[in-house]
Amino acid sequence: MPIFYVGGRVTAERTESKRIDYPCVRCGVVPARVVGTGKGTGVSPFFLAGKRAQINAHHAALAVARREIDDILTFSTCPRCKARAPSGARRFRLQLGAAGAVATIPLLAMILFGLHWAIPAVAIGGALVFAVLTLRIWIIAPARIVPLTPEELATEKKAKVRSDARAQLRSESDEERRRRRRERSDEIRRERRAAAGVDEEEEGED
Ligand SMILES: [Zn+2]
Repeated sequence: MPIFYVGGRVTAERTESKRIDYPCVRCGVVPARVVGTGKGTGVSPFFLAGKRAQINAHHAALAVARREIDDILTFSTCPRCKARAPSGARRFRLQLGAAGAVATIPLLAMILFGLHWAIPAVAIGGALVFAVLTLRIWIIAPARIVPLTPEELATEKKAKVRSDARAQLRSESDEERRRRRRERSDEIRRERRAAAGVDEEEEGED
């Protein structure tokens, strides 16, 4: 093996957040953000390509963080009163139930029908990992859905006012464009009529 083909391994961590409006039966709509964290590894085949490994690690970490945000949202809790959403609780029970079934059914098949032990062993291992991951998200969810602070709300409001003003300007210029187009087509029509020798110009003029 050539010595230069050793490569570097880079690990990156990222925290991402997603802005949401959380609908709570008790608190109403709560402006909040969901925080996800992720760790990723990037490998570069050559020492010289270290930058590439860094970029890959960042992208991997970002993808993990985004997935965590989605997972947290499925078990959502109110950012203010921390009440669990019934849909999230249902989903949680369903996932644990599925893990239980995946672990139990091959085990029963082994006991009853002499299925090779390797199959229930793999199934139980997989189900356990899935159950632990599910539990982890369920546990961290309340701390990861946080209400926006008054400062964050103020910043958001300012940004909205700015973008509204921009949108207004844009729609005004759209109107202006439409008006010009209308005028131009009127003009063309008049010119055509004039060219055709129809004497309607007088009434068209204003
Ligand atoms: Zn609430």
